[in-house]
Amino acid sequence: MKLNGTSSSTPLNGASANQQEGVHTNGYSRHENYSATADQDELVDEIGDAHGASSVDTPMRPDAFDLDDELKVDLIEEHFREIMNILGLDLTDDSLKGSPRRVAKMYVKEIFRGLNPANKPAPTLFDNKFRYNEMLVEKDITVQTYCEHHFVPIIGKAHVAYISSGKVIGLSKLNRIVEYFCKRPQVQERLTVQIADELKKILETEDVAVIIDAKHLCVSTRGVHDVNSSTVTASYNGKFSEEATKQELLRYVTQPSVTI
Ligand SMILES: [Zn+2]
Repeated sequence: MKLNGTSSSTPLNGASANQQEGVHTNGYSRHENYSATADQDELVDEIGDAHGASSVDTPMRPDAFDLDDELKVDLIEEHFREIMNILGLDLTDDSLKGSPRRVAKMYVKEIFRGLNPANKPAPTLFDNKFRYNEMLVEKDITVQTYCEHHFVPIIGKAHVAYISSGKVIGLSKLNRIVEYFCKRPQVQERLTVQIADELKKILETEDVAVIIDAKHLCVSTRGVHDVNSSTVTASYNGKFSEEATKQELLRYVTQPSVTI
């Protein structure tokens, strides 16, 4: 039964699994040079579950931006259609036929737009006219990023703090900087350090701290299926490495937020 473009059962393309000399009736065959062993599969899973980052910089190829965004959307659409096809989904179904294009646009223009340095927010700096020399903390900044090992969301909060060296930054720019680095495939440790490094550079000070508390959907919706745990990462720099300053920050972060 069809209702508003959805059907009561998952649409399949009707391909049978009959095999003829390795070529299936849907035209797909196993790639000659590819066959992962059980050991290789296990290693891939282990690296994903370990959630370690290989470097502070997001690993990018030098030719990453040779293709423009429109071409990237077209190519990803094509490849995602293939993924859906291989899964056996019927791409003529009203509900599914637009999905490859939707996913491609979402990847390039929304959730991974932070891969492109051209999308980095321009910082608006002001002179510290009030001579406010205490720490400024912006807490509970929304974090919505994507695990680079499983391409599923990591959702949580970031707390960002700095002590002015003479410059102050517009508050919303702190949100924008967090958002920019979130719009990439990430590991939480790298995200934390990338935000801290960017703030140090912009504000010309080492006195920067970033704390992120987030839930990983690759931990809650698959694998160990732990829906309760969250992961905390922190980058304390300059004066924030000193115990008293760190404790002051943690007091602000843990006290209940104002409600208005
Ligand atoms: Zn993951």
